[in-house]
Amino acid sequence: MSPLFFTGALLVCFLAVNAQKKLNASNDALKKETIANIQSKYDDYKKIALQIWDYAEVGYKEVKSSALLQQTLKDNGFTVQAGVADIPTAFVASYGSGKPVIGILGEFDALPGMAQEAVPEKIAIAGKIAGHACGHHLFGTASVAAGIEIKKLIEQKHFSGTIRVYGCPAEEGGSGKVYMVRAGLFNDVDVVIHWHPGDGNAVTMTSALANTSAKFRFYGLASHAAAAPEKGRSALDAVEAMDYMVNMMREHVPQETRIHYVITNGGKAPNVVPDFAEVYYYVRHPNRDQVKSIFERVVKAANGAAMGTETKMEYEIIGGTHDLLLNKTLAEDMQLNLEKVGGVSYTPEEIAFGKKLQTSFSYKVPAVEDAATVKPLKVETDAGGGSTDVGDVSYAVPTVGMRAATWIPGTPAHSWQAVACGGTDIGIKGLMVAAKTMALTAIDLYTNPSLIDKAKEEYIKAKGDYQYKALLGDRKPALNYRD
Ligand SMILES: [Zn+2]
Repeated sequence: MSPLFFTGALLVCFLAVNAQKKLNASNDALKKETIANIQSKYDDYKKIALQIWDYAEVGYKEVKSSALLQQTLKDNGFTVQAGVADIPTAFVASYGSGKPVIGILGEFDALPGMAQEAVPEKIAIAGKIAGHACGHHLFGTASVAAGIEIKKLIEQKHFSGTIRVYGCPAEEGGSGKVYMVRAGLFNDVDVVIHWHPGDGNAVTMTSALANTSAKFRFYGLASHAAAAPEKGRSALDAVEAMDYMVNMMREHVPQETRIHYVITNGGKAPNVVPDFAEVYYYVRHPNRDQVKSIFERVVKAANGAAMGTETKMEYEIIGGTHDLLLNKTLAEDMQLNLEKVGGVSYTPEEIAFGKKLQTSFSYKVPAVEDAATVKPLKVETDAGGGSTDVGDVSYAVPTVGMRAATWIPGTPAHSWQAVACGGTDIGIKGLMVAAKTMALTAIDLYTNPSLIDKAKEEYIKAKGDYQYKALLGDRKPALNYRD
């Protein structure tokens, strides 16, 4: 290398480092301002989140919740396209133009049977059929908050590019995002940011279980169960025979498999042989091909049950989601931002609420004050215990996500304790952590194109030559799956 070339290379390197330093410094100021801006709207977002908590609408029926988030975005200058992907409550809100296109996912569906007061003891709300046991009221609101803040940067600080907030219905079993992916709504997006409520603050480096769910329906012959049992063929017998076979199958499936079911219809009266019965199944495994083959065996059990009980069987695929493709490049960036934002600190009253709530758990729980900490970034090798339709988005575009402490440490998702926390400032404080961290991560993406390039490179490598195909096939959205 000639000395002149060496000096030149050194100079380029110096300039690049300097430019990055300058960028970091100006980003730092911008990030502080963004954190303060989001915090200043605490009461506004609290009002929206608690309103959705109160609506507690289940999958594909989130009419009021979706409308409220859409209106908030419209009031803040977004253009909203509603009813996308043949789903009335799905929407895409957009601001700005050109590249990069950054998407933020928001959810808002509640869980049936989970109505609960915002108190630290189990008290159901009379007459209410659902509750936000997965914190999706916070999820949707934080994503809208982050989107609005990014919109302001495009408008006021002349960031170039587009911000989109995706209103994603029916995450709980309805696989809403799968239809949105299938409709090509993410085709031109560079990076998608998401989050999920939780009992701690951490950037997600754990994949998810791929799954397929289906309702198996059996049709028999009704008759008097005592006077003419020989004339009847019990659809409930078929469900029980199927369940028995599947339960035996558990011994002969790969270790990480998860299979669960509920009988959604088992007849109406013991003295009538049921002529109709239905069972709702989930099959999960970290590997989507395993899910496909195990699901085929479950269908065989259903066919066998129908044959042996002389009933007829049909099944309907309800949902299906991919595993989650992780992106370390983006996760490392989000981690820095989450650390900058920090965790959640509670007032003495909230600590008292948390301690009382924790007495309802039968296992050892972390300290309430753990919500103030941010977990170090850790690449997990197992796929975790859950499934998410974000998995399908992660096969369409590089994604990055996190959890924020919206629930008292030790609180599991899908519990009355999660509903209770989500109805108080404990939940709202976690919402703030998520909104701020997502907005800060977006700032990095708009100001540092090489971050997107690097993330894309990693994404392409991780995806390999896999051609995405939805695990729920080409069915239309199961808009009535909660009926
Ligand atoms: Zn959830």
